[in-house]
Amino acid sequence: MDLQGILKRLEHCPCGREHTVDTKVVEIGRGVAARTGAILSDAGFGKRLLVVADDNTARVARAVFDSLAASGFELKKLIHSNLLYARAEGVAEVLALCGDVDGILSVGTGSLNDICRVAAQKTGLRFAIFATAPSMDGFAADLAPIIENNFKTSWKGVQPDVILADTAILAKAPTELKAAGFGDMVAKYLGIFDWRVANLLLGEHYCAAIADLTMESVRRMLSLADKVTGEDEEAAGSIMESLVLSGLAMKLAASSRPASGAEHAVSHYWECHKLSRGLWPEFHGKKVGVATVLMNRIYKNVAKRVEKITPKPVVIDRERVYAAFTPAQIPDVEKINAFAFPDKVDPALLAEKWPEIRAIALDFLPDDAELLDLMHRAGAVTEPADVHVDAALLEQGLRYHPYMKSRLLLTHLFPMMGLDIMDFVN
Ligand SMILES: [Zn+2]
Ligand SMILES: [Zn+2]
Repeated sequence: MDLQGILKRLEHCPCGREHTVDTKVVEIGRGVAARTGAILSDAGFGKRLLVVADDNTARVARAVFDSLAASGFELKKLIHSNLLYARAEGVAEVLALCGDVDGILSVGTGSLNDICRVAAQKTGLRFAIFATAPSMDGFAADLAPIIENNFKTSWKGVQPDVILADTAILAKAPTELKAAGFGDMVAKYLGIFDWRVANLLLGEHYCAAIADLTMESVRRMLSLADKVTGEDEEAAGSIMESLVLSGLAMKLAASSRPASGAEHAVSHYWECHKLSRGLWPEFHGKKVGVATVLMNRIYKNVAKRVEKITPKPVVIDRERVYAAFTPAQIPDVEKINAFAFPDKVDPALLAEKWPEIRAIALDFLPDDAELLDLMHRAGAVTEPADVHVDAALLEQGLRYHPYMKSRLLLTHLFPMMGLDIMDFVN
């Protein structure tokens, strides 16, 4: 990936902000596994390396270990059997091994990367990722979702210095994971839509160049939808590039805006609900993809059917909202204080900007049928039942997700607009 080219393109950005990233090297291509040792040496990694993997990722990325040995790296290994969750205990386990190493290499995806990202932040060690599946957009993130006491919160981490992936390995990843990555990327339509809404209504900083960069990458990936279910290296590489770019875009924008909107909040609601009951929450991108189809349909339907609005100030019934969360979640809901949005947004401004918001939804967001077709072609699931969300949880997620998000979403304003979200699901 041409990181320098991306930074060059954003130099003297018309948005007025300076955009930077900490990641120095991103290499996604055929044969990268066999060049890992050389790439990390060139990037200045010291020779004592802690490698964190699981049985499966260590097996598919065997060439990485051979390459590191050939380049003279001394490896300390932490190989999990199957790490489904990134828990505080997992971070502690990595930290305990950090004493006499110069850097950390995570071989894998999601949870493995996240525990290492936090450990690298706490120790100041160099950090690299060798990705084995293009499953979600957190590779380049500097925050990590970590579970403590069955509750997920965002922990401070670091952006990796180096992100590597071999397309021969990515292409062989299970279709479920590749399709999950695809789902996490179609979500960007909604993230950027909500970002533009917040810019219009609250004057929140918006960078069109970062939004364009993200969407170019999404469209390139969509053009390869038919090839995701096969072991196609170009399609798998394109999903991976998009996912890494999306993580970089968050850092460039210093905000999660280019990557997530109402759909991520809906998915997060479902996830917390399941975690608090000890249920497997499904892969991130898989449920985000389903939530994207839903929220895209809702935003599209609202834009089509609601030509004029007469927004009115409202007071949200906090007790009713709290009832939709577990006692452990309520302090977070209080802290986020999304109840304040109807006061922050001027009803007259909302009425004035409504035609423009509608136009963005109609022009920019994909058609429902078109989105469903792309998802199906890519092997991605699209129905709530596919991610074990029943009718009750579906409705709870749609009604109460706004209270999990501290940044403005259009859904925060549905009560002001007199709209019931459930009227727009179909
Ligand atoms: Zn900018
Ligand atoms: Zn995501």
